[in-house]
Amino acid sequence: MRMSALLAPTLRETPAEAEIPSHRLMLRAGLMRKSAGGIYTYLPLGYRVLKKIMAIVREEMDAAGAQELMLPIVQPAELWHASGRWSDYGDEMFRLKDRHGRQFCLGPTHEEIITDLVKNEVRSYRQLPINLYQIQNKYRDEIRPRFGVMRGREFIMKDAYSFDRDVEGLERSYDLMYRAYERIFARCGLKAHPVLADPGAIGGNDTHEFMVFAESGEAAIVHCERCGYAANVEKAEARIPQASPPREDVPAPCEISTPGVRTIDELEAFLQASPERMIKTLIYLADGAPVAALVRGDRELNEVKLQRALGASNLAAAPPEVVERVTGAPVGFAGPVGLKGARILADHEVVAIDDGITGANKADTHLVHVRYGRDFTADAVVDIRTVVAGDGCPACDGVLRATRGIEVGQVFKLGEKYSRALGATFLDESGEERYFVMGCYGIGISRTMAAIIEQHHDEDGIIWPYSVAPYHAAIVVIRPEDDRQRSIAEDLYDRLWQSGVEAVLDDREERPGVKFKDADLIGFP
Ligand code: ATP
Ligand code: MG
Repeated sequence: MRMSALLAPTLRETPAEAEIPSHRLMLRAGLMRKSAGGIYTYLPLGYRVLKKIMAIVREEMDAAGAQELMLPIVQPAELWHASGRWSDYGDEMFRLKDRHGRQFCLGPTHEEIITDLVKNEVRSYRQLPINLYQIQNKYRDEIRPRFGVMRGREFIMKDAYSFDRDVEGLERSYDLMYRAYERIFARCGLKAHPVLADPGAIGGNDTHEFMVFAESGEAAIVHCERCGYAANVEKAEARIPQASPPREDVPAPCEISTPGVRTIDELEAFLQASPERMIKTLIYLADGAPVAALVRGDRELNEVKLQRALGASNLAAAPPEVVERVTGAPVGFAGPVGLKGARILADHEVVAIDDGITGANKADTHLVHVRYGRDFTADAVVDIRTVVAGDGCPACDGVLRATRGIEVGQVFKLGEKYSRALGATFLDESGEERYFVMGCYGIGISRTMAAIIEQHHDEDGIIWPYSVAPYHAAIVVIRPEDDRQRSIAEDLYDRLWQSGVEAVLDDREERPGVKFKDADLIGFP
């Protein structure tokens, strides 16, 4: 390719809207342009990178025994009604109607479509396992599209779906994908770490997210350098401290007057007491029923964990009128002692507080000298707090550290969630109908491109790993008008291509400095 003919509109200035390096550099190096919020055009250089990432993904998926197909982007609403996700997906789904008034969506993901396909086409256990994948645009009307293609509304995903006859089969399929993902990201020059994650609304059980550690990452992660434990904070656990034997000398609880003191900070200032002794009592509505969640005063409640512990499909902080009805006191004075109107879930650490302070369920009043087991109990003692850096690793004696991550891929054990919802069965050896046991596996292709740049750049531009570089080398002709320079460059160019090196020839009538700057910016290895 000759630079004089290449559409690679590089920019000297840093575009104001771009907050992170990959977004800035993708615009500056002329890899892409914005069309609307979260919707982009890939220019020739950017598209070459995408194609190389896709080629790596295809090779590894094929090697793992998966088969490529292409599912429709426009999907009928009926299948989504059957799975219950037509409403669950909410505003993130792009919806449309055809001329007859029939409803469709632009696929945000493809579990419904693929399950329906396999339900109709695969009848016997002899055809299993099967893993089908595609690489295609996905559509999600994200609340906050940002960071360029990192969080787009139209983006490219590889999505694969495995179908097995039983859970052991799913374990094998999952493991194959997990290992294929490790190879894919390594081949893309990315350091991506598998971390445990919460399955969330998609349903199912085990799941790992492949995270690229980066300041700009939107996911909070903790990890242990000692044993390699790594988890999304939504999911992460901490080592549960050994409870020390209870102190005998704690007096009975007594009320103290705390006028207008509602928050942990205010209580700390007012009583000059450590928040580690305080029992924070938060009232929620779980599927409409009130729940009191107790965590230590210095901790954050983790709503994802709470929802999971409750098995609730809907969880929201209770409005003030509900708090008042349940506790008999205005917001800010809730506590577990004598609390009747709500299920109580206590975090492990609350049980270990032997001389606690908490709300008295009475306006402007708190209780001191409160202890679990003696003064109150809970319906369940569970892990519902958010872990923080410095917590003990749950898997070894190490200490957890906090980082941020970009989720470039996810592998997921779905189980029978979709096959049951859509009635997708096969016949086993004894002729009995059984539900397919499914897994699903996504990679954000366009996000991976941005993540590679986050890990490989300097102040002058991108530094592409060879495997995904748009071109491998640039031949910069200092004086194109000099015939000798030109012919040497042309010769070199031909020979590079013949030996498999994809080269560009910068034959533009520009100053050498401009050409070197562009070469640095675009990042030819
Ligand atoms: P996130 O938590 O970042 O919103 P997700 O968990 O909803 O992502 P999945 O449904 O697991 O995403 O999709 C599989 C992969 O697709 C993700 O691991 C990510 O790499 C990519 N992806 C998801 N949403 C976007 C988006 N809006 N823009 C670009 N890539 C995305
Ligand atoms: Mg995900």
